[in-house]
Amino acid sequence: MASNASCDSWDTQPYCNITMTTNSMNPDTSSSSEDNVSQATTPLSIPPVVTASNFAFAFDIDGVLLRGGKPIPEAVEAMKYINGENPYGVKVPYVFLTNGGGKTEAERCADLSRQLEFEVSPGQFICGHTPMREMAEHYETVLVVGGEGEKCRNVAKGYGFKNVITPGDIIKTKQDTTPWRKLTEEEYNNCHVIDLENTKIEAVFVFADSRDWAGDQQIIIDVLMTKEGHLGDRSEVFNEGPPCFFSHNDMIWSTSHEHSRIGMGALKTSLEAVYKAITGRDLNTFAFGKPQMSTFNFATRLLQEWRQESHGIDEPPSTVYFIGDTPESDIRGTNEYNNRSDIDWYSILVKTGVWQEKTIPRYPPRKICDNVYDAIKFAIEREQQKSINYRRTSIRHPVTNK
Ligand SMILES: [Mg+2]
Repeated sequence: MASNASCDSWDTQPYCNITMTTNSMNPDTSSSSEDNVSQATTPLSIPPVVTASNFAFAFDIDGVLLRGGKPIPEAVEAMKYINGENPYGVKVPYVFLTNGGGKTEAERCADLSRQLEFEVSPGQFICGHTPMREMAEHYETVLVVGGEGEKCRNVAKGYGFKNVITPGDIIKTKQDTTPWRKLTEEEYNNCHVIDLENTKIEAVFVFADSRDWAGDQQIIIDVLMTKEGHLGDRSEVFNEGPPCFFSHNDMIWSTSHEHSRIGMGALKTSLEAVYKAITGRDLNTFAFGKPQMSTFNFATRLLQEWRQESHGIDEPPSTVYFIGDTPESDIRGTNEYNNRSDIDWYSILVKTGVWQEKTIPRYPPRKICDNVYDAIKFAIEREQQKSINYRRTSIRHPVTNK
């Protein structure tokens, strides 16, 4: 555990019961008690850093910190600011909550660390398919769709799913499954021949964006039209298929293109429409990710663990600032979760992603900021003001201390 100090009222440090730590570029790195002794004698020219325990941040990634795989210009400075390079010498715990995916959490954190020039741990990271980990105890043989090459198969195996089948396995086994989609040599070599007559797929999981909508939809629909997932046994009533889960339901997302691009939510909508057109039946699918309350519950647990393990803070924060760019997932989810949470989840919408400034957000945030750097500064200033108000109130009511 890092020995970073924590403090409820951090705006002026004499009010805090703290241990000083140096203003490190990687402040979450563990340090020994001997380190603290040496840090206590750090020259005064290096500002001390305290950790705020009464509030925290949660970040969306695409459209907030990255766009088209590259950092948004203000993102790197924002990460420095939140990690102590600010006028108050305060650093604030944070987690990342993205609907994106397609890689293991560890791989994605390594990418993010390089892009943001700050170490990001899997212990502070949730992507769209992270909550699917908890489904591995319910389903053994699953169809996993989306992402590049074998990556999502490997993610699913890492989550504990025992038998992971991909669309590529089915195409390799029966090549006319998709009339126009042919496997590349690499795909052919990586995929497995399966026993189509005797395989039972218990659930379908769309882990990441499909690279081949037509082929993947054909195969998902084939599975959903079976009797209880038995690939060799087609239903006659078309409501006996296995469940179908998506890692999120974002209709559009922010990329390097000047206009938002259609995403997994569009595939989900398309699949439901095609299924209905073919069978006459409604298809009930389920999406994880934001704005689902289960994902915000998951994020709350992760934030609590991260604050405890990395900052030594046992108490929950009073406020979590969520910074996102998509009203339909980020802002909607934060606002709805706030209505049922003891913690104040405070939604901030930035202008660097999906939402366009000339439109009215479908789900209004509590604050709109130009970019992530401004959002962080706003939140820290707001907490500073709350802290000052609290102390003033305390002075006026010394007996009750309220
Ligand atoms: Mg986004």
